Order: sequence, then C-alpha cells, then structure tokens
Amino acid sequence: MHLAPDFAPVLTGRSVVELEASAHTVMGLRPDYSVGYRNSAWSRFAADNDAPELAKWNGRPITTVFAGAVVDYYTELFRRVQESGRPEDHDYECSSPTTFRSFRLRVVPLPERALLLLHHLRVERPHDVEASSPADFRYRDHRGVITQCCHCRRTRRATHSATWDWVPAYLDRSLPDVSHGLCPPCFRHYHPRAASSFDSQGRSTIPGLDRSPAS
Ligand SMILES: [Zn+2]
Repeated sequence: MHLAPDFAPVLTGRSVVELEASAHTVMGLRPDYSVGYRNSAWSRFAADNDAPELAKWNGRPITTVFAGAVVDYYTELFRRVQESGRPEDHDYECSSPTTFRSFRLRVVPLPERALLLLHHLRVERPHDVEASSPADFRYRDHRGVITQCCHCRRTRRATHSATWDWVPAYLDRSLPDVSHGLCPPCFRHYHPRAASSFDSQGRSTIPGLDRSPAS
C-alpha cells in the first residue's frame, strides 16, 4: 500500500482497511491526476504484470504516461467526473501475449476534486483470435516503425493500414521502434462521436479533425 500524507484527508469516510482488503485494484488521484494512494492489490497486479514504469509515476499526473492516442479520452473522463460529481465506468483491455483480459474502470469522485479509480477484471481467457507471425516486411513501415494499437495491442500492417493483426511476438517491451495508435474498433470505443463523423472515404466531418481512424 502507498498512501501519501496529503491524500489521507480526502479518503476520510472511506475505510482504507476495506480498500486494502478489496480484490479491486484501487488508485487515488490528486486533482492534478498524480497518484496519492495505491492499494496492495494494485501493487501486486503491477508486479505480476511487469510494470516497471510504475516508479516514473511518482508525483506525475498519470495522464502523462498514457499513450498519446488515449490521453485526451482519460483526461476528459476524469474532468467530467470531477465536475459532475457522478461516478463513471469505462471498459478497457489489458491483454498479455497469451491471455485476453478486459477490465472495468470505475472513476469515483472524492472531496476536493480528488478521484478514486477502481479496476476489476471482467474477462480473462485465452485469446480466441489467430496469432500472426512477426514479419518485419509486413509490419515495419518505410521508417522501420511498427505501429501497435495501445488498447487491444494488435499490430498494423504497413502495406495495408486498415488491417491490424494479433502478433503476440511483437508485444515484447524491448522491441525497438514501436509507435502507438488506435485500430478502427478501438478508435470507435474511445471516440464514438468522432468515429461516427467519418464519411465513407474516412474523412472527418468535424472541422479540424482530419485524422483517419485507421492512420
Ligand atoms: Zn485496437
């Protein structure tokens, strides 16, 4: 467990003992989205899932460690809950090369614009999509860069950018020259309003939003 002294007052009224006993992974965010509290389940989950970047989160807004393609979504979600005072849910994937996992995040408002993030596992099963073999000629673009979906972790074909394959061998964190985007289904999941605004040629009908969902 990690509980920063400045964060303890906003948890008043909630039993830290109860949060510690919870099977949910729980994180408390200050108003600037830096981490003020993590329960033990969160620390265990991070250790089990090889999350060495955790140390970098100390004192920084967690939105700064999200991949660029989803940072606006989470920033907007957190701001909405801070302003409405109502909890909101969001489902997301966090799969490993062998296991499909889907989690539900509940964002709960706390006093003084702090937030509590509770995650629970909804689905855990072996992947049911066919795995493709790693083949740099198929997946590395002319710059030598591989693009992965930051949500479902599929890899975009360099020669056919509308096709994203499940390539578990590319999920090694040490793989060089990887950039992150959102595949079309995940783009719709994160940006339903923008996705519905693309015309049949993939052009946005929202002024200023000229990014194709597949690019
Ligand atoms: Zn995806």
